[in-house]
Amino acid sequence: PRPGDASAPAARVVARDLVVRFGETVAVDHLDLDLEPGSFTALLGPSGCGKSTTLGVLAGLQRPDSGSVSIDGVEVLGSPPERRPVGLVLQKPLLFPHLDVARNVGFGLRMAGALRSHERAEVADMLRRVRLDDLGTRRPHELSGGQEQRVSLARALLRRPRVLLLDEPFSQLDPELRADMRTLVRRLHDELGVTTLFVTHDRDEAVDVADRVLVLDRGRVVGGGTPEEVYTRPATLATARYFGPVNELAGEVADGCFTSPDGTLRVPTGAPAGSAVLVVRPEALLLADPAPGSARAARAGVVDAAVKEVRFAGTHVVVEVALADGTPLRAHLPVGSAVVPGEPARLVLPPDRCHVLPRQPSLPQQ
Ligand code: ATP
Repeated sequence: PRPGDASAPAARVVARDLVVRFGETVAVDHLDLDLEPGSFTALLGPSGCGKSTTLGVLAGLQRPDSGSVSIDGVEVLGSPPERRPVGLVLQKPLLFPHLDVARNVGFGLRMAGALRSHERAEVADMLRRVRLDDLGTRRPHELSGGQEQRVSLARALLRRPRVLLLDEPFSQLDPELRADMRTLVRRLHDELGVTTLFVTHDRDEAVDVADRVLVLDRGRVVGGGTPEEVYTRPATLATARYFGPVNELAGEVADGCFTSPDGTLRVPTGAPAGSAVLVVRPEALLLADPAPGSARAARAGVVDAAVKEVRFAGTHVVVEVALADGTPLRAHLPVGSAVVPGEPARLVLPPDRCHVLPRQPSLPQQ
């Protein structure tokens, strides 16, 4: 379908073995990517991990050293950006200061001369979709940051691209406006059905907006899945750490059970036998019933600990404890929990909230 055809279907995007080097720096390191037609994926990772470079390759702004990119099975690496069915929104909107909003949006349709009437109708339709119907005659300097980004978005979507690439588009806006803009992008995605890749370094933003999250670390995809999967069952420690505070306990897996070095913690697991790390989020930990006579650590996932510190955090208390061998653990417990610094506490690590990963020698324990 030609660009501008409202019925243009969403595309499947496949990248294979992409490598991009800048001198000594390997910005993208044998990266594979699969975006299902109509999917909404967040590409998440710390500064410098290669997010923008990856997007640049997909958009045609950056030539990779090797690898391939196809859109619906058609190799696109040989095509210039304007020949790809791709819309791009960057962190800083690049608007033409001398053109009004409507002309900025319609720029891709007609670079010189007046817009034809059906083109004006397309621009008006897109301005309505991004809620800028009244501002078509304003110049960029008369717009707020959020309005400027909406003009960028309208421009990127005007030709009905089959792939929409967004590179930290809202990082310069205040948090409330960011949330509004995310909702708007999500709604436009749903209305137009465009395959969307949203680059961000903000995990809350990624989890909030996307159906699928890919975590990038040093140019490689180190984890992926639904927001819930990457949070609760991350594929790697790097992913687990990226999604906020996490407890990490070293141990061994044997006979379907994770055991800590001193044998006091046992958690059933499907992880393979060998050296392992158990990861569990602070909010998953519970305070055990101080049931009289319960044998010490007799139940799976129960540990005895010494309470080191209790901090009030509004919705919960942050409790820092240490196990007998000194391993620190953090628990988020309900306000008013019976925990006192200097006293013992028995904690439950619910097996279904624990996730066991094979030990990766490359990642030091934190
Ligand atoms: P940020 O979140 O800070 O935008 P990013 O994840 O988008 O970071 P990239 O901009 O893709 O990361 O950069 C990846 C790596 O490649 C970084 O080490 C960066 O310094 C390097 N890099 C990017 N562009 C160039 C360039 N044009 N020349 C040299 N090095 C570059």
